[in-house]
Amino acid sequence: MTQKVGVIGAGQMGHGVAHVSAGHGYEVTLVDIDQDALDQALELVRTGLERQAVKHGEDPASVDAAMARITTSTNYSSLADCDLVIESATENEELKRKIFVELAEHLKPEAWIGTNTSSISITRLATASDRPEKFIGLHFMNPVPAMKLVEVIRGLQTSEDTYTQCCEFAEILGKTVASAEDFPAFIVNRILLPMINEAVYTLYEGVGSVTGIDTSLKLGANHPLGPLELADFIGLDTCLAIMQVLYNDLSDSKYRPCPLLVKYVEAGWLGRKTGRGFYDYSTDTPVPTR
Ligand code: NAD
Repeated sequence: MTQKVGVIGAGQMGHGVAHVSAGHGYEVTLVDIDQDALDQALELVRTGLERQAVKHGEDPASVDAAMARITTSTNYSSLADCDLVIESATENEELKRKIFVELAEHLKPEAWIGTNTSSISITRLATASDRPEKFIGLHFMNPVPAMKLVEVIRGLQTSEDTYTQCCEFAEILGKTVASAEDFPAFIVNRILLPMINEAVYTLYEGVGSVTGIDTSLKLGANHPLGPLELADFIGLDTCLAIMQVLYNDLSDSKYRPCPLLVKYVEAGWLGRKTGRGFYDYSTDTPVPTR
């Protein structure tokens, strides 16, 4: 039974997982290499919990109680008493593998490891851990408190018990589980990211402007967000990393990342999180950058 949850990476996804876990009564330890990311994450979790308390007419004291369940650290040793650790660091295989190797020294033997990777092979990542049978993909959606789905992905080595326990955890958080096979980018991103990449090609080839493309998909296909807005929301570095996994692991040129997406990432224009992507977020109303 999971009682104490560890979260590695305090970015967009990590702070969301910490929010929903603490909000559902779990003790949470949030770890990042960057103290500023941890400080910002705590502020965002508090703001999110306060908004939720107002919306659902909950006692404001519940926010302080949930916040008191979260501790932060820059050291993996603070995860020693966690029952489940959810890795939510940057989408980079080498970086994630290093984390799993390091975790072996610190976690208790019975702890499960879930990775929130958007695309990377669970079977391959599990080989960097000392407990491949207790290793699983737990792919939350962004923003975590609002989105109902968790994709659960078993690697070849994942045990049935790990799968059952982790599905139960996701359901306690109020999420619906979709079980996906361990193929590049699983279900949601196998479908979503090629669409986003195609939207960037549409911009690159001059078929439409940023506004034209987003308006077309919102009003023409009833999407709540245009694909370029959505790309900025996900993070262009994450979008590119997912396309690279699809391209390399499926060896199919139809997944080649658009050169314009590559350029934006090279410029450090990663979307909302850096204040600029396909839109500039420095003013109240986002302004298209092309
Ligand atoms: P992000 O850039 O917002 O945050 C990543 C965090 O990881 C940063 O705070 C960084 O300091 C931290 N980090 C980097 N190396 C670390 C290390 N060695 N140890 C601890 N922390 C480290 O990224 P994100 O959008 O939160 O994505 C995190 C993971 O979640 C990725 O695997 C991504 O693919 C996945 N994901 C993202 C989305 C999305 O929409 N952005 C959705 C689902 C899943």
